Amino acid sequence: MLEYNISSPVMVTGATGYVAGWLVKRLLEEGFTVHAAVRDPHNSKKLSHLNELAERSPGQIKYFKADLLSTGSYAAAMQGCEVVFHTASPFNLSADNPQKDLIEPAQLGTRNVLEEANRTESVKRVVVTSSCAAIYGDNADLKDARGDRFTEADWNNSSSLTHQPYSYSKTLAEQAAWDIANAQNRWSLIVINPSLVLGPSLNPAATSASLSLIRQFGDGTMKSGTVDLGMGAVDVRDVAEAHMAAGFEPSVQGRYIVSGHDTSFPEFASILRDRFGETYPIPKTTVPKWLAWLIGPFLAKNTTRKYVSRNLGLPFRADNSKSIQELSIKYRPLETSLSEMFQQMIDQGVFAK
Ligand code: NAP
Repeated sequence: MLEYNISSPVMVTGATGYVAGWLVKRLLEEGFTVHAAVRDPHNSKKLSHLNELAERSPGQIKYFKADLLSTGSYAAAMQGCEVVFHTASPFNLSADNPQKDLIEPAQLGTRNVLEEANRTESVKRVVVTSSCAAIYGDNADLKDARGDRFTEADWNNSSSLTHQPYSYSKTLAEQAAWDIANAQNRWSLIVINPSLVLGPSLNPAATSASLSLIRQFGDGTMKSGTVDLGMGAVDVRDVAEAHMAAGFEPSVQGRYIVSGHDTSFPEFASILRDRFGETYPIPKTTVPKWLAWLIGPFLAKNTTRKYVSRNLGLPFRADNSKSIQELSIKYRPLETSLSEMFQQMIDQGVFAK
């Protein structure tokens, strides 16, 4: 572990989020005092799961009001912290105004948090939750990768404000993080680059696009078929473990692809069909690429013909060996993450008519 004083608090931005929930749980279990930076510390609906976790754990949680877009907003929460986890960033694949809804909170927010780390003498390490979206933009980019799979050496240089804007926001944010970190030497920056995060949510009110995507496999949206989209996937609890190692292991450095499986939408459908297909309209077929190209733009807001051409029918492959060797991640099976996530949605009545 990092030369670390257990009595000093650790800070988590975006503590209300789907990914952050499991990280906060692990920190509380280890006995840390968590400074949870949230937009609305009085929103009991968004915080009750965190309060319940804290009641059952040796650690404590304290809330601080903070917004990514407001300069100086993280000062109070960061006071006295040695480790800062910056997870907050909008994860929304259908933003109306990508500049305002995605780029600004991601990029300015990262600058705000990391510039606050420069002003806060106690900070020794900052862990930023980036994404595989900062490694690659489209599956077609694989042909330009250095090897036969994406590695931490690859950067997304195909996304823009008008093409894959969420991926663009994550790329700009991570670049801002490295620029700030490389201009100083008091604290170290570790970046976690997860692929699509799956698995149960601790926050029943979470709005992550991970949840809305998997919901569509069971609510009838895809009953005429799924598109053939290759992607990486990882369990939310494995992502939390990766953040713990990134926060406290002294030897870790750089970026880490955290992705358990090279998979695809048709594989998601097949796993879910085996377990839930008798009761729920899980897709049975795959929409041909030519048909997706023809009608996709009329059906889904962000499905352009360029997106279809550069992604459907093309595989995703990523090298997760650095995370296994240096963060000691033992990836859960995809079947476990997907089934537990879907079962939780059933139990919560998400598919009830
Ligand atoms: P999420 O549940 O939507 O969490 C996003 C968090 O960001 C929420 O806590 C939200 O706070 C906060 N946030 C958004 N805008 C903010 C603002 N202007 N000021 C302060 N906080 C703001 O999504 P998630 O899936 O857990 O994502 C968490 C992180 O993981 C993000 O950085 C995302 O890019 C990254 N990631 C996610 C995935 C995935 O598949 N889920 C994959 C790779 C990387 P409120 O509760 O107040 O809205």
